[in-house]
Amino acid sequence: MRGVVFLGDRELELREFPDPEPGPRDVIVELRASGMCGSDLNTYRLSREQRATRPMHIAGHEPCGVVVACGAGVGDDEAPIGERVMVHHYSGCGRCRNCRIGYTQMCIHGSKVYGGSADGGHAKYIRVFPYMLVPLPDELTFEEGAAVSCGTGTAFLALERLAVSGRDTLAVYGQGPVGLSATMLAKAMGARVIAVDMAPERLALARELGADETIDAGAGDPVQAVKELTRGDGADATLDCTGNPAARANAVKSAVDWGRVCFVGEGNTATFDMSPDIIHKQLTLYGSWTFSTTGQARCARFVIDRKIPLKRLLTHRFTLDEAEPAYKLFDTQTTGKGVFVFE
Ligand SMILES: [Zn+2]
Ligand SMILES: [Zn+2]
Repeated sequence: MRGVVFLGDRELELREFPDPEPGPRDVIVELRASGMCGSDLNTYRLSREQRATRPMHIAGHEPCGVVVACGAGVGDDEAPIGERVMVHHYSGCGRCRNCRIGYTQMCIHGSKVYGGSADGGHAKYIRVFPYMLVPLPDELTFEEGAAVSCGTGTAFLALERLAVSGRDTLAVYGQGPVGLSATMLAKAMGARVIAVDMAPERLALARELGADETIDAGAGDPVQAVKELTRGDGADATLDCTGNPAARANAVKSAVDWGRVCFVGEGNTATFDMSPDIIHKQLTLYGSWTFSTTGQARCARFVIDRKIPLKRLLTHRFTLDEAEPAYKLFDTQTTGKGVFVFE
C-alpha cells in the first residue's frame, strides 16, 4: 500500500509500504476516510532539518474505516470484522491511571501517536490495538467520523471542560476546523457564541454554522469588541483554538470576572499580566488535550442527537493520490476542512 509521509519543507511523498499484517493483539482497519488536521500541517511545514529529528511515519491522525482483520489474540467482541470504527489515535501501556480512563495519550509510561510516532491513517490500512477502536454509529458518515477523531472531538471535550450551557456567552478564538466545530457544538449546547478570527471568509462560514456574533480580529481590538458585545463585562467563557500567543492573551483578557478560559491550540507560548488579567479576575483556566475514548464516543452521539451540521465543515474531499495538491491547498486555504476518502 502507499502512505503519505511528510518530508519537511512542505514536501510529501506517497511511499510504498507493505500491507500491515496483524500480530496476535492487532487489528487492521481499512480506511474509508482520513481527515486533515492543523497539527498535520504543523508537521508538513517543518524544515527538513526539524523534520529529520522526528520519527518518519505515515501521516494522518483522524482515521475512520472498517475492521478487516484481527490477530489470533483478539476476541470477536473486541473488534468484529466488518464493524465501522473511528480510531482513538493513541496507544499506551493500558494499565496506568491515565490509560485506564481512556486517556492513552497521557500514558505515564509513554504513548504513541498514530500519524506521528506510529503509522497513521493516510494509507489504505492502519494497524491498531482493539482498545483504540470507537464504534462509528450508523447515523454518521466515515467522513464525519474522521472529523470526530481529532478536530471536532477536541472542541467537544473543551466545551465539556468549560461546562458550557445556555447561560453562557462563549468567545471562540480561531475558526479553523476545531474552532468552527466549537462554534457549532456550543450553539447546540445553548450558548451565545462569538466567533473570532482574522479571515473574513472563515467568519462568514462561522456565521452560517451558528455563530451569533463574529469579530474580525484583524480589524480592531478583539478584547474591546467582545466587551462591547457583553455590556462591557467580557464573555462568561472563552476558548483558544489558535495556539497563537496574542490570541491566548486576548482569550484571557476578554473573559468576565469569575469567568472560565480553555486552551486547546497547541505549541507556542503565552504571556499574561498575572495580577490584573488572572488573579484579580478570579479566572479559572483549563488546558484540554484532545479526548478520551469515551469522550470521542460522547461527541459522536452529541453530533447525531443534536443534528450538528458537521458535513458543512467538510468542504474538501481528496483521494490519496491528491495528497500533494491537498496539503498545498490547505497550507494557504483558510476555510473549512479537508478529508481523504477511499473507495
Ligand atoms: Zn489533530
Ligand atoms: Zn499507560
